[in-house]
Amino acid sequence: MSHQSRRDFLKTGALSTILLGSGIALAGGCSAVQSRGKTKNVIFLVSDGMSAGTLTMADLMMRRRDGYPSNWVKMLQEGTIRRGLMDMASANRIVTDSAAAAVSWGCGHRVNNGSLNITPDGIHRKPLLPIFRDAGRSTGLVTTAEITHATPAGFAANVESRAMGEEIAEQYLQREVDFLLGGGNRHYHSDQREDGIDLYEKHRQAGYLVARTKSELMNGNPAEGKVLGVFSDSHVPYTLDHLNTPEDLQNVPTLAEMTDLAIQNLSKNPNGFILQVEGGRVDHAAHSNDAGGLIFDQIAFDDAIGIAMEFAANRDDTLVIITTDHGNANPGFNSAPDEDFDSIGNFRHTANWIRSGLNRDSSISDIRERFEYATRLEMEREHAEIYREAARGDYRAAYSRMNGTSAVLGQILANYTHVNWVGGSHTADYVELATFGPGSEALEGFVINTQLFDVITESAGVKEFIEEKTEADV
Ligand SMILES: [Zn+2]
Repeated sequence: MSHQSRRDFLKTGALSTILLGSGIALAGGCSAVQSRGKTKNVIFLVSDGMSAGTLTMADLMMRRRDGYPSNWVKMLQEGTIRRGLMDMASANRIVTDSAAAAVSWGCGHRVNNGSLNITPDGIHRKPLLPIFRDAGRSTGLVTTAEITHATPAGFAANVESRAMGEEIAEQYLQREVDFLLGGGNRHYHSDQREDGIDLYEKHRQAGYLVARTKSELMNGNPAEGKVLGVFSDSHVPYTLDHLNTPEDLQNVPTLAEMTDLAIQNLSKNPNGFILQVEGGRVDHAAHSNDAGGLIFDQIAFDDAIGIAMEFAANRDDTLVIITTDHGNANPGFNSAPDEDFDSIGNFRHTANWIRSGLNRDSSISDIRERFEYATRLEMEREHAEIYREAARGDYRAAYSRMNGTSAVLGQILANYTHVNWVGGSHTADYVELATFGPGSEALEGFVINTQLFDVITESAGVKEFIEEKTEADV
């Protein structure tokens, strides 16, 4: 079968066709047809921008520092989850962005980078959360990025551009998403929205518990089961900074805590639920070549996997999907003494935190002091001089995208940790896919991103609620 005809085959969306097209055998008594409608609940966990090296380094850090493996790799080791390799390309690029990536899962179509559930032909495709809502299921989005960020929005919104955060926030309300937890106050607060609308008040009127702190979230009683929790102006803090900032520890819940609360509430619906959980800041740390930020946030994501599996492990009605939307900067630990890698586990703050306190006028001693406080490592003077050069815009790397302070600081840090990077952007790598529960049998081997939508809607028995609209009125 030619590549083109196979792609057309996949576009038909019928699961049986996909199984034939991808060469997956139906032997073994667990065909997708038999599991039709078996999936009551779907938990879709995305570590945004997770290269394979990120998964490896988080697992290594946990084994060496804590004495036990990550949930993700442990489940692979024990054979409790299935493993696939997934092609995440978008409609117009080999390298996707988070919007097109989430949309490929959210509505089963490839769109151009930046677009949310509107295909290049202009058709608005109904995403998973409204489909599940129409099937009587509860719906939720949890993230450490802004709640309106591209990944959660790919499961619930239809807009031309991922930058339309205010519209996305309104669509979540119109579409009655039951559980919304993350950052992004700037898209809700009347002082910061361009139209001056108080979106928090609109949620209260619609029966939502509105929480702005961890205690408001944990102690609140959502009478109708609907919750909007917004814990920061933009994204919630990096885990590493969060752990070492008492005020944040008190006010901002962890991804695992948010996931736990969402599952507890959504699972009260006897018809079931769909929940998307995003570790959104793994991507941001990778963009900034920030090894501490990256590894600690990947570990926080892994904690959320543990919560999801605690719920799903002893049931046969919950499909759990664990994956990433694209690689990012492809970090890896280069050959060096193990202790150099271990030093990352002692960091107090992210590289982002180091940079945020410095500027072009910072002295060599300012730079060294901040670096040394954040990493507990002694900084050589020549490295502080290189950083100052970058801060003044005078640094020239051979790969010109590595001229900025984040890439330069990332490479300076690599002299101590030996974790280094290929760039500061998303990469074309096929990505890790791990699945558990009914429907997962169709997601082994090599998987095309859009297949996930077909498997989810088929195994949950909600295909009749898929519809196409030429206007955003789903
Ligand atoms: Zn990104």
